[in-house]
Amino acid sequence: MIFPLSIQHDELAEAFLGRLARINGVKSEVEIYKILKASYYVLDDEDRRIPHFDYLSRILRMSLKDFVSQHTTIPLRRAIVSYDAKFAHGTHKNDSMMAYSGFRQTRKGSYFCKKCVQQDVSNLGFSYWRRDHQLPGVMLCGEHLQALSYTEKKDAFFFSPSEYLKTGTVIDAKWAKITHKNPYVERFIAISRALIQQEFPFEVKKVRLVLRDQAEVKELSIKNGECEKPLISDEIVSKFPEEWLATVFPDLLGKRPGEKMHKSDGVVYLSTAASSVESYILASSILFDSMEDALDAFIGTRKLMLVSSRKPIINIDSNELKDAYVQAKGKYADLELQTSEAKWNIHNRLLSMGLPNLKQCTKYDFSKAVIAFFCEGQSLQKSAEMGGIDTELLEQIIRQVGVGFAETLQQMSLKRERKQGVLRMKAKAPNEVIHRTGT
Ligand SMILES: [Zn+2]
Repeated sequence: MIFPLSIQHDELAEAFLGRLARINGVKSEVEIYKILKASYYVLDDEDRRIPHFDYLSRILRMSLKDFVSQHTTIPLRRAIVSYDAKFAHGTHKNDSMMAYSGFRQTRKGSYFCKKCVQQDVSNLGFSYWRRDHQLPGVMLCGEHLQALSYTEKKDAFFFSPSEYLKTGTVIDAKWAKITHKNPYVERFIAISRALIQQEFPFEVKKVRLVLRDQAEVKELSIKNGECEKPLISDEIVSKFPEEWLATVFPDLLGKRPGEKMHKSDGVVYLSTAASSVESYILASSILFDSMEDALDAFIGTRKLMLVSSRKPIINIDSNELKDAYVQAKGKYADLELQTSEAKWNIHNRLLSMGLPNLKQCTKYDFSKAVIAFFCEGQSLQKSAEMGGIDTELLEQIIRQVGVGFAETLQQMSLKRERKQGVLRMKAKAPNEVIHRTGT
C-alpha cells in the first residue's frame, strides 16, 4: 500500500512522482510505478495502455484531464496541433502521447527559484519543482522576480530542488532582468503562460490563417517561395536577444539573413505543424502587439470555418481512382467517375500518385511513348519518337511518374544537410550562452 500525498499548486507531475517515491522510501521510478500498479490492481496488458499520469491522478483522486492540465507541460507542448484538436488535454485519446512523451523536458536543465525553495522549506517542510519555471525562456521567478537556478543533472526532478541549492547554476541576475524587460521576450513568456492554461489545443490549419493575416498587416512574407518582403524568421532574429534565443530556438541563429526557414517562416503557410510550439509563439510575439491580441486571435480560430474550397471533398478512394485511370488508358479527359470531387483535385491526386496525364491525338500518343520506355526497354529518344513527342516532354512525364521517389530523395538530402549541422542546433542552458558572449 502506498502513502498518499496531496499535490501543491503548479507542482510539476514528474516532481510529484519523485516526492511520492521519497516519502514512501522508494529509490527509483521503476519501483514506484510497480507499487502504484499493484495498488490499483492494474493488469499487465492494461498497463501498456495507461499513461503514467493516470496512476498519479488516481492517487490524487483527480480527473486525468485536470491533472494533465494543471501539472504537466503537455498543454503547452500540445498547444497547436495538426490533428485531434477537438480532444482536450488529458483525454484518453492522447494516451500514447502521454505515455511516450508525457515527461519530456521543455528546456535544457531543471529550473528552480532559491527563494521559492527557502519559502517552501519554512512553510511546508519540503520544497517542490514548479511547472512555470520549466517554461522555455523563463529566466526569472514570476513571484520573487529573482533569477532562476538550474541543474543539468539527469533525473533532477526525482529529487527535491533543495538538494541543488548549493550546486545549482544561478542564471546571471543582471542578464535575466534585462532579458525579461525585452518586450518581445515578455510577450513570448506571457503567451506561453496563457497557452498552458488552455483546456483544448488550437488547430494548426486555422492558426496559420490568423498568423498569415497578421503577417500581411505587418508587411512580412507569407509565401512558401521567393518573396521580396522581410521574413518572419529574420524579424524574430532581429527582435529577440541572441543569447536568449539560443536557449529557446537556436536553429534560427544558424540561418543566413534572407534565407527562408520552414520551421519558422512556415507557420504562415504550412498546414501541418511547422515545428515545435516555440516557433508559433515566437512568430505570435512579433506579429501581435500584446499577449491579449494573440490569445484573442487564437481563440477566434475555434469559431473559424475553413473555406470549403481549401478542403476538397474526397469521396473516391485511391484504388478506385487507379482503376478509372487504367480504364481511361491514362487520359484524364476520358476518366469516368461518379463523384462530386473537383476535377482539379482528382488531377492533383493522380499526379501525386505518379499517374500522369497520357494525352493522345492523331499526331502524338503519350501512352505509346511511356509503354515503349517502361515496358519495352526502348531508349528515351526512341520511345519519344514512337509516341510522336519531344524527348524533353517524355522526360517531364517520367519525372511525374517518379514523384514518390523524388520526395524520398529530397528527404535524404535534407537528412544529409542536417548531419552536417547546417540547421539543427541544440538549445543551450542560459549560462552556456551568457558567458560565451561575455554579456
Ligand atoms: Zn520564487
